[in-house]
Amino acid sequence: MRFASRLFVAAVAALVASCASRQQPPRPTPPPVARPGTGVPTTPPPPAPVLPPSGDLVLRIETGARGTGQVEAVPLEAYVRDVVVGEIAVAPQDGSLAGQAYAAQAIVARTYALAVRGRHAAEGFDLCSTTHCQVYVRDQWRRSRWASEVDAAVTRTRGQYLSSAGRPIEAVFHAHCGGHTSAAVEVWRTAGAPYLRGVEDPYCVREQSGDWSSRLELEAVRAALNRRPRTEVGDRLDGVQVLRRDAGGRVVELVLSGARSPVVTAEDFRLAVIAAAGVRSLRSTRFEVARHGTALVFTGRGSGHGVGLCQVGLLGRLRAGQTVAQVLGAYYAGVDLSRLGGT
Ligand SMILES: [Zn+2]
Ligand SMILES: [Zn+2]
Repeated sequence: MRFASRLFVAAVAALVASCASRQQPPRPTPPPVARPGTGVPTTPPPPAPVLPPSGDLVLRIETGARGTGQVEAVPLEAYVRDVVVGEIAVAPQDGSLAGQAYAAQAIVARTYALAVRGRHAAEGFDLCSTTHCQVYVRDQWRRSRWASEVDAAVTRTRGQYLSSAGRPIEAVFHAHCGGHTSAAVEVWRTAGAPYLRGVEDPYCVREQSGDWSSRLELEAVRAALNRRPRTEVGDRLDGVQVLRRDAGGRVVELVLSGARSPVVTAEDFRLAVIAAAGVRSLRSTRFEVARHGTALVFTGRGSGHGVGLCQVGLLGRLRAGQTVAQVLGAYYAGVDLSRLGGT
């Protein structure tokens, strides 16, 4: 899925700061003082930002090729409407689910935009229009089979976003979790947000199994791994072994057996492989792997990084009668559904 490789370093760093501070009771007197031996500042986290009314929020979107400086001012709600149609596919026979599916995706897209806007501030805009942020194409919603449902869903959810401790959350999502989502901390090895934890999800596999298999020549995998310093194996690759899986069965760590034998995260391994061989070469890190002659054979389930909202599970839950709020609460534990003022 196109958003499988999104990383959220800046916001996660902010969350690390806020989590660390919550573990230390604030002292009454600023300025910040590191506790002896810990290096942890004891000042409380900065207050949550006051967000402007939805109607006043205009995003500066880089619409030209990277680095051309072509930037467009796009009202938040118009941005959401054009982003959601590219983010989730609703089958022709699922018309009864389309309105709610796009409503959920609209809340997620709006939340994500609010959480990461400004990540490109140094470059002169808020968000790029590639998968790095969210894919934006002006007026693409009009070309969708579900244009009227999309328009109605964005209007109905106007200004709604998911929040934790008063802040828009890192509303990451993926196509198909394979039966269990994963914690951000396991997949990205960053101090994950508490709402991005692994949950069991029988709904996606009821919709579609998500099973896949892939045979990749060792030589092709070696070349792919050598393109990135963290996964570099040198002039020989003999195989890969799973070191650790998370509670849901997703591979967390691998050791690469080659001229060099680094221990890598499964997500770094997947990103290196798909960058060279395409997203279908290794759809997820929920896999078994074995060497067969000169090739590695992977058998797996699911698609994407597995963190946050599972889109096929979203459709399955809606089909089972869950509300949009129930679905979002299932994948983002303990978050609030908030609304921008003036909407
Ligand atoms: Zn970007
Ligand atoms: Zn799922």
